[in-house]
Amino acid sequence: MKKYVIVGLGIAGLTAAKTIRSLDSGSEISIYTDEQTLFYPKPKLFDLIYETLSAKDIYYYDSFWYDTNRIRLHLGTGIRKIDSIEHKLLTEDGGTVNYDSLLIANGASCFVPSFEGTYTPGVFTLRNLSDAFAIRRHSRLIGNHKPVVVIGGGVLGLEAAHSFMKNKLRPTVIEYNSYLLPRQIDKEGADVLRGIFENWGIEIKTDSSTERITGEKNVDKVILSNGTMLPAEMVLISSGVRSNVDLLERSKLPYKKGALVDDNLTVTEDVYAAGDIAEHNGNVYGIIPPAIEQATIAAKNMIKPGTAIYHGSMPTNTLKIAGFNFTSIGLVNLIEDDPQYEIIRAKAPIDGKYRKIVLKDGKVQGIIILGLKGEAIAANKLVNTHADVSQYKERLKDIAFSLKETRT
Ligand SMILES: Cc1cc2nc3c(=O)[nH]c(=O)nc-3n(C[C@H](O)[C@H](O)[C@H](O)COP(=O)(O)OP(=O)(O)OC[C@H]3O[C@@H](n4cnc5c(N)ncnc54)[C@H](O)[C@@H]3O)c2cc1C
Repeated sequence: MKKYVIVGLGIAGLTAAKTIRSLDSGSEISIYTDEQTLFYPKPKLFDLIYETLSAKDIYYYDSFWYDTNRIRLHLGTGIRKIDSIEHKLLTEDGGTVNYDSLLIANGASCFVPSFEGTYTPGVFTLRNLSDAFAIRRHSRLIGNHKPVVVIGGGVLGLEAAHSFMKNKLRPTVIEYNSYLLPRQIDKEGADVLRGIFENWGIEIKTDSSTERITGEKNVDKVILSNGTMLPAEMVLISSGVRSNVDLLERSKLPYKKGALVDDNLTVTEDVYAAGDIAEHNGNVYGIIPPAIEQATIAAKNMIKPGTAIYHGSMPTNTLKIAGFNFTSIGLVNLIEDDPQYEIIRAKAPIDGKYRKIVLKDGKVQGIIILGLKGEAIAANKLVNTHADVSQYKERLKDIAFSLKETRT
């Protein structure tokens, strides 16, 4: 009986296990995770920090499901090292585990910049369930209407600020760049988003960088490089993530930003990687859809090496930012001054609605949508097929015109 071992029970590890089980019913599947918990979707962590939910409320499957699917879980069992020659793993508690085929799906961790004060009590990052519980406990401890600073105005930082607001705290978001979400949105869209947050009373400080965090028993201030002092009784650092490459380093497996994989998602013989740990053609995506795609392909190759090819993922983001639907697909930025691209914008800032379509020779290259419901599937299709929408150019300038109405 073939023995498949997976390191990490995030979306990549879970998807791989499900794929293997569906294609190879007689095999043994074991998942090792350093967390004590069953799989939970990370976007749910935002609900957990302001709602009275328990871990069980956000588990995707209960333990009965894992038993039924004969997926053996080893909770709270971190993997220290991989011996890819001997096909063995060394666990953090000194045990050894043999494998026939291995998936590294150990994800990423929050990046914490090196300014002073990051270890002050009341300073947090948000990546897993225990972080979310710690943030919730601290929010309750400090009480309502207290100032909170979120360092980083990316998607996760904004979402967290929204959860803090719902928790009756007073968040300020600090963003280093001149506008929010510079990788996913453009300046005009970011201004619409900023307007929504400011209407809610969430302060946004762009062009701002943190110099240090102060406080002894608890954080009391965030000091910016321009000297501004922001009072804070809690700080969330949301400054990006880094793949968990330590395991690769200790195992002498190849990595740069993440585990270097080929088009079969192979790291070395019988060792594969998927999700936030995997670096394919220089890309570590850091979002859920590529993790699912990679894990499915890696699982197929674990069963029959060399049978499934990964071509990379379209950089797509479909999520809710503070309840507003947001989709950003394909080429949306860094094209403003390039005459070969045409941009069609439509917006209704008061309603928090914005749409940008990037065309080349009338064909769709990228789309940003903010605050519009039910448009993501149509947008994905238009970008993926590079649909020719020349005949709709005028109508697309109207925010009320739905992408679903384009017949291409
Ligand atoms: C709060 C939050 C909200 C998010 N919201 C979205 C969203 O709305 N849309 C989106 O696309 N993306 C979102 N993301 C990003 C998304 O969650 C990640 O891309 C995704 O979790 C990656 O999955 P993964 O399985 O590769 O890694 P992870 O989810 O990081 O899982 C890896 C697992 O491996 C474990 N592990 C690490 N090292 C070891 C070891 N040595 N031994 C054993 N176990 C180990 C980790 O503890 C973890 O449980 C969000 C992330 C966060 C933090």
